[in-house]
Amino acid sequence: MTVITHLAVGAAAGSFTDNAAGAALLGMLSHVPLDVLPHYEFDKMWLEVAAVSAVFAAMLVAGMGRTGIFWGAVGAVAPDIENLLWKVGILPRERKVFPGHSPRLSRVFPHGRSLGPRHVLTQAAIVCASVAVVFLSMRAGAS
Ligand SMILES: [Zn+2]
Repeated sequence: MTVITHLAVGAAAGSFTDNAAGAALLGMLSHVPLDVLPHYEFDKMWLEVAAVSAVFAAMLVAGMGRTGIFWGAVGAVAPDIENLLWKVGILPRERKVFPGHSPRLSRVFPHGRSLGPRHVLTQAAIVCASVAVVFLSMRAGAS
């Protein structure tokens, strides 16, 4: 799944708690099914890194650094750090450990088959639904 999709779903999952560790765990757990489902991977890695970094920076500037939303997003994105390290040649493929990434766990958690770029529309819908959950949780928290 694209990292932005992971970030959005993790933020939505984390919005259900104000506990940073719990939110990060929920975000990390959300990563597994999203990678196991068939999906499209964005191939412009550094553009994706820049976009995700910009979202995290915006969240910090907006004062969200202590929210479950932020930590859920962090937990959801963190597993893809090993994919980044693998793509730049620092980490061998067989050393990846996260379910959905690890070749050793591929029988139980196979990485979803690759879909074409049209799957971006599905991921955009997932991102929009996740952002809606985040905004609804922020409204509920403000009242
Ligand atoms: Zn992943």
